[in-house]
Amino acid sequence: MINDTNVDGLTGTDPPSIPDFPTTPYLLLDPKVAATQYHRLARAFPDTKIYYAVKANPEPRLIRRLAEAGSSFDVASTAEIDICLSQGADPQMLSYGNTIKKAKDIRYAYQRGVRMFVFDCEDELRKLAENAPGAQVFCRLLASSAGAQWPLSRKFGCSPDMAVDLLALAPSLGLDPIGISFHVGSQQLDPSRWDPSIAEAAQVFQALQKVGIELDFLDVGGGFPVGYLSPVLPIDDYGQAIQQSVSRHFGEAKPRLAIEPGRYVAAEAGVIRAEVVLVSRKSYEEDLRWVYLDIGRFGGLAETEGEAIRYRIVTAHDGEATGPTAIAGPTCDSVDVMYKDTPYELPLALRTGDYVDILNTGAYTTTYSSVAFNGFAPLATFCIGDNA
Ligand SMILES: *Cc1c(COP(=O)(O)O)cnc(C)c1O
Repeated sequence: MINDTNVDGLTGTDPPSIPDFPTTPYLLLDPKVAATQYHRLARAFPDTKIYYAVKANPEPRLIRRLAEAGSSFDVASTAEIDICLSQGADPQMLSYGNTIKKAKDIRYAYQRGVRMFVFDCEDELRKLAENAPGAQVFCRLLASSAGAQWPLSRKFGCSPDMAVDLLALAPSLGLDPIGISFHVGSQQLDPSRWDPSIAEAAQVFQALQKVGIELDFLDVGGGFPVGYLSPVLPIDDYGQAIQQSVSRHFGEAKPRLAIEPGRYVAAEAGVIRAEVVLVSRKSYEEDLRWVYLDIGRFGGLAETEGEAIRYRIVTAHDGEATGPTAIAGPTCDSVDVMYKDTPYELPLALRTGDYVDILNTGAYTTTYSSVAFNGFAPLATFCIGDNA
């Protein structure tokens, strides 16, 4: 099921009559929907602590809603820490989940009361020991991103044997080793992809038990997918598969579970309203039309790189005759093309000046938009349905 029902009432309508409402493009965000998504996850993952990955959308009103709903937060920088604390989150609810941190940023986080930090190598562990004495630390494992539409590659994590050594080293540095995290890649479609990393984590737990260290924290990361052009499995399927894996590999000694969802929480809370700037053909012989929008790869749709994330696009002419369409952005860079290989069809009646709505775009859009490439302003956010 393509779940666009959350943004019903937003799509295909004229902009709300807010004074000084901006011209397109903009993201219309409903923080209430993010809270709904949070509650869906909480039901699918009982007894699991949910750390919203702030990078997906750090809009303060969305953060406030999630804090009120009881969410914890996965932060990656001092600015993300500040946003969370300014919107009512307790420092105890923050996990510094970026494996790549400056010493001064660790110190800042520690001063502000953050006590949970990730690492994936000895350099980072020693940095934590020096700048966040006594903190709770967990080690990120390398994980395969196979099956993910937005993979995370080998940039993060270490092998299980290295994780064992580093976690065993932590107490001698004055740190409190608590467990393991990993991330199986964003927009991960296959619920069984978490299992190999859960199995590895269980082995790390056992190895440390042998040297007298009891880990009890297992963070299975984010990756939970959203229905864009194609439907995805319900979130309960991911919850069940992951919890069954944990039972199978950990038996009676079940760890405290955590997840770090970003996309699943924020994507469906937003819709981008954009405008058609130009409709063209490249020759008299070609059927393919090119539709140029006032948003593109640099204006917030960075995840269309490699046509990885395929957004659903709604127009006021839907239901009328369509034809094959390449869809591109407005800048003077040739990579600013969203789709030319994916067989998109848009209505033949679509004209310059028409609006289009790009659905489920609340995650990984505003933060990816460039500051002023070609002079185009960064993607603006408008919050609705929330008097915050
Ligand atoms: C980006 C990120 C997430 C969120 O991933 P989603 O695929 O959006 O759920 C979670 N944890 C970490 C460490 C991340 O970097």
